[in-house]
Amino acid sequence: MSLDVQVHTDLPIIETHQHISERDKTDRTFGWGGNHIENVLSAMASNHVVTAILQPLGGASDPVAVHRYIAENAKRYPGHIFGIASLNIKEHGEERTVLELESCVRELGFVGIKLHGFSHGFSPNSPLGRVYFETANRLGVPLMGCVGAHGMPFTNPGLYADMALEYPNLKIIFAHLDYPIAETAVSLAMRAPNIYLSSSLSIPAYLRLALEKCGAEKIMLASEDSDSITAEIAKFAAIGATDAELEQMLYKTPIEVFNLHGRVAQNPPTAEMISMKRQAGFVVS
Ligand SMILES: [Zn+2]
Repeated sequence: MSLDVQVHTDLPIIETHQHISERDKTDRTFGWGGNHIENVLSAMASNHVVTAILQPLGGASDPVAVHRYIAENAKRYPGHIFGIASLNIKEHGEERTVLELESCVRELGFVGIKLHGFSHGFSPNSPLGRVYFETANRLGVPLMGCVGAHGMPFTNPGLYADMALEYPNLKIIFAHLDYPIAETAVSLAMRAPNIYLSSSLSIPAYLRLALEKCGAEKIMLASEDSDSITAEIAKFAAIGATDAELEQMLYKTPIEVFNLHGRVAQNPPTAEMISMKRQAGFVVS
């Protein structure tokens, strides 16, 4: 008896949401660990992913070092790896946070900024949250924000919608699409031209709802970890999307949202196939 699930496609796929781990450390908020660059490249190679956008996890011990590590890999694997900047303003202070976000975008070529409302513990429309919106808007990169029940009240999609109205030229990406906020997220993305959706934590039914109501131009692949990529792509294969819609969601929309025109690799990286030795969560035995 055997079970083998594989992605067979000639479609170049872009993964927009990968948390790269710190070596020999688990994340302070989530207890996740083990998602290293070799695992990401391996998963990209086996799932026909040409490009992955990496970011620190919300409880990274040293997000500034993680940013430098992402930049190193973006240089080593051009067109395959890009970066999103994320650090906690409560730990690093406003001035240092803004300087680091600016440095990531201007000097390291990062393509987005993450507001991790749940792990960092503030609302998007709070004075702390506004620093991220103002900085992303000024630097001309999209802002990805956590939405979902897991981080209420900081992950209320309605608060992001208020900010989307205040910053009409800023692209805002909802990081998750799970119960019970999925309908609200879809409704807001349908109405606000600058709100986008991504698949992390969704079920195929919500992804289908998003496709029907918002169109493929608003939806992207978001897997969190390299060992989730196959399963995440399978959701897209399960919602009855046309070939053109799949190409739009898995390739064209992220190019448009993250302004990657002419910058992504044509083929997946060549990489050794390795399985992920990962950690997840804090269960005390
Ligand atoms: Zn995430």
